[in-house]
Amino acid sequence: MKWNHLAFMLIAAISPVLAHEGIELGPNKGRILELSNDESLHAEITEKDGKITIDLLDHDMKPVKLDKQELTATGGTREAPEKLTIKTEGDTFILAAPPAGQWVIFQFKTDAAAKAITARLHFNTANCEPCKQPEWRCACKEE
Ligand SMILES: [Zn+2]
Repeated sequence: MKWNHLAFMLIAAISPVLAHEGIELGPNKGRILELSNDESLHAEITEKDGKITIDLLDHDMKPVKLDKQELTATGGTREAPEKLTIKTEGDTFILAAPPAGQWVIFQFKTDAAAKAITARLHFNTANCEPCKQPEWRCACKEE
């Protein structure tokens, strides 16, 4: 991770707790975001036809059914944050892919009364040379 990204993450942080460092990929080669404080729930983020799909996975990376879980997303810029619309389709959350390079801040709750967990995604679509994947779902180790 480049230092300017890290600095932006720190500034953009809604919660003072930073997510784990490093990128993990899920069973569908999507980007994994942590949605719990104990690795018990993850989101796998994939992209197709201009849409971002978000599937919930349990501790063993097995699919989790949608029930009372709530997910919100904020995009835009630091100066002009923009609430993104999230729909559900079956057990999947769906939102329109943000403009390339934008940060998306997700707020997740297991139910309306739960404490929100914050997860961040830098939608960096630049191609990674070694793995041929966009940077946002590249799991190459950076020095
Ligand atoms: Zn890569």
